[in-house]
Amino acid sequence: MEFSHERAGLMKTEALRDIPQVQGLLEHPRAAALSNTYSREEVTSALRWLLDQVRVNLLNDQSCELPDFDSSEFLSEVERTIELRRKTNLRRVINATGIVIHTNLGRAPLASDAVEAIRSVATSYSNLEFDLSSAGRGSRYDHVETLICELTGAEGAVVVNNCAAAVFLCLAAFAREREVIASRGELIEIGGSFRMPDVIEQSGAILVEVGTTNKTRISDYADAVTSETTVFLKSHTSNYRIVGFSSVPSRAELVETGRQYGLTVIEDLGSGVLVDMSHLGLPDEPVVRDILGEGIDLVTFSGDKLLGGPQAGIIAGRLEAIAKLKLHPLLRAMRIDKLSLAALEATLRLYPPYDNPFTSIPVLRSLATPLEALRARAQHVASQCREIEGLHAEAIQSVAYAGGGSLPQQDLESFAVSLHSDGVSAQTLADRLRMAATPVIGRLASDRLLLDMRTIEENDIPEIVGALKQYQ
Ligand SMILES: *Cc1c(COP(=O)(O)O)cnc(C)c1O
Repeated sequence: MEFSHERAGLMKTEALRDIPQVQGLLEHPRAAALSNTYSREEVTSALRWLLDQVRVNLLNDQSCELPDFDSSEFLSEVERTIELRRKTNLRRVINATGIVIHTNLGRAPLASDAVEAIRSVATSYSNLEFDLSSAGRGSRYDHVETLICELTGAEGAVVVNNCAAAVFLCLAAFAREREVIASRGELIEIGGSFRMPDVIEQSGAILVEVGTTNKTRISDYADAVTSETTVFLKSHTSNYRIVGFSSVPSRAELVETGRQYGLTVIEDLGSGVLVDMSHLGLPDEPVVRDILGEGIDLVTFSGDKLLGGPQAGIIAGRLEAIAKLKLHPLLRAMRIDKLSLAALEATLRLYPPYDNPFTSIPVLRSLATPLEALRARAQHVASQCREIEGLHAEAIQSVAYAGGGSLPQQDLESFAVSLHSDGVSAQTLADRLRMAATPVIGRLASDRLLLDMRTIEENDIPEIVGALKQYQ
């Protein structure tokens, strides 16, 4: 035993010695060519890294022999490594899941005007906090406040970096060390560990839960008010719904009772829509203007959900309440950056007239695409896919979702291309598309890969077909 161990050790040492040296490989003509295409540093670094892999594999391997070493093949591997390293980590993917606002896939794609606004502000100086008319100091919030007020009927507005921060700021400003009353049925958790009770606690407010999971009456709120109460908080139960025997008080009741006790009534909408979307199969999503019209003091909503803009948290409502938020020290820690602000302003400017956002803002365009157009798109993609040998494709009816914590339960009729291959399983096909140069993310259903047409655009199609050709 001992003898063979020793012998094996010796053979390993010899095999390790046989691994080519970095210097030697760099002199190979192919390496010189690579250094011209890329840089010598990149080639050297990739070479070192791959040679280390060979060493590690050999040490872990049972056998003591170096596998045949082909320098040309090895240098091709060097090139693939450099190409991979050059790709950014965070990059474009094609969303073929049918979930329009997909938090894992970056939520709302921006309108081209918003992208142009980012480019312009990013590549230059800007009047971010400079008042051009007085040459004095300006406020970053001024660039969007009037627009938000015009679109929502609010008296004032302020914007922070996301909706979670917006809720947190409102509670810290109005309920720190005071009681906030909320319905038990609305104490939700939204993906990414945003739990309403935790947010309330972290803001320094004291949560008073009222009612039961399925029923809360206005008298439950009124009975819970003490001299310590400062806020009624209503939340959109974005990602779940209690059906059947359930009710919560109307906004009018909450507002009336809140007024009676001198409280601030806050509603966290999450998604927040600026225009009526009931004709798109989204009948229950309240419009911010209507909510404020019912007398709610402050509403909070995201910039990158159904609004279709950049990540941002918008707080709109009464002038004095907004003024208080603007003076709060936490605002500085949550402030929106200039690029998001530029994109938000440009997105908001696409809102009036009524029809415009449904063609110019990608999320709304996607929701508004007629079923017939999706059918035609699916048939078109399926026929291109069928030209690929071994691939079977058909256009089928499917169900898409608004997603993003905004009405995930709400189905949207859609069409998908259903794919299966002679050679590989649907799972493998999905894996390969996910690893393509532009990853394509579909969904699996009964051993088929479905590519939903609701969330793709015409210019994604050549890339999808290209990826299938290469990988199927
Ligand atoms: C999504 C959501 C939030 C969090 O919004 P972010 O912009 O992701 O921070 C808060 N409240 C509700 C009801 C939501 O749906």
